[in-house]
Amino acid sequence: MSKKKGNFETDAIRTQSERTPFREHSTPLYLTSSFVFEDAEQARALFADEIPGNIYTRFSNPNNTEFIEKLCLLESTEDGIATASGMAAMYISMAALLKAGDHVLASRSVFGSTHQILNTIFPKWNISYTYADLSDPDSWESKIQPNTKMIFVETPSNPALDLIDLEWLGKLAAKHNLILNVDNCFATPYLQNPAKWGAHLVTHSATKFMDGQGRVIGGAVLGKKELIKEVRFFARHTGPSMSPFNAWVLSKSLETLAVRMEKHCANALELAQWLEKSSDVEYVKYPFLPSHPQHALAKKQMRHGGGVVTFEIKGGIDRGRKFLNSLKMLSHSANLGDTRSIATHPASTTHSKLTEAERSVVGITPGLIRVSLGLENMEDIITDIKQAMEASQK
Ligand SMILES: *Cc1c(COP(=O)(O)O)cnc(C)c1O
Repeated sequence: MSKKKGNFETDAIRTQSERTPFREHSTPLYLTSSFVFEDAEQARALFADEIPGNIYTRFSNPNNTEFIEKLCLLESTEDGIATASGMAAMYISMAALLKAGDHVLASRSVFGSTHQILNTIFPKWNISYTYADLSDPDSWESKIQPNTKMIFVETPSNPALDLIDLEWLGKLAAKHNLILNVDNCFATPYLQNPAKWGAHLVTHSATKFMDGQGRVIGGAVLGKKELIKEVRFFARHTGPSMSPFNAWVLSKSLETLAVRMEKHCANALELAQWLEKSSDVEYVKYPFLPSHPQHALAKKQMRHGGGVVTFEIKGGIDRGRKFLNSLKMLSHSANLGDTRSIATHPASTTHSKLTEAERSVVGITPGLIRVSLGLENMEDIITDIKQAMEASQK
């Protein structure tokens, strides 16, 4: 395995498993559930963790190792582990390190299933949580309790695209000796590296922009060696490991992450600028638009503004639904981070179980449309959005 620290694109392409005697150019898929031992002594040493090497694919596999070593280079983290899904990553990054009586301080606008872990699953084991708002950083320190062990955040948030200052948060976590865990799925390692600002854990759903082609489910927990050691122990014995096939797909996906993110972000910025000129839109939110309230912070901690744009179409919930029904090319799907552009109306779908007041706290207004920009031709994307805006006025 190459340890060379090159530039992002080079590491993403040239970090590769050792070649086999077949001299393959591209890493092959290792579909094997177990590995054979040279002799009894090697088997003993492998089980005793005295030498590195593969034993059983629930513990490790060359495809998973390649994917993770590459991700660690791209995120500037010491170690990591690949998981079967993004949620497995969120879950084990918390469950492995928390015990009964501990408390988590989390940003209110975390992913839906992360909410369920915090407010339904963990309370069964006496692990409590408090939410804090990204828009009110002054309130965070007073919410830290003597039993607080971890801070968990997503930035930018989904779908409101609010940010929090990772450098400030890194210092807050250090001051109170807390583990800072950042779900970096929205930004990907190409746009933002939380570990550089003091995050101890960086968690990912690899299903979104990282795969980028809507094919596989996967996740990763990356971070400090001593923390990952505990997470690895938990994963090894509870079994949420990534399949080698998905690791093989995702390692190849990372080879093109930089070029794909450049295009996703360029398309997103172009759409945001176009929407800002439309008289049919109440507001547009995109971190790299100068009108975003945290534009300066976005420029500080992100390389580009990301692949997602949100806007409030005039006419509330009904108009939002009509707009989606009028789209001809953009997909109507709950996913994001695909080559295909996707539109969603959170108020009537992903966040429909919340009250309007609860939605408004996390920035979801009635006509809010979230667009995940794909890689199609930008003229075609705007043409579709324009015709759907016109058709939904009637
Ligand atoms: C999708 C998503 C997850 C969950 O990932 P899965 O791969 O679907 O399990 C977690 N966090 C964020 C921010 C997401 O967008």
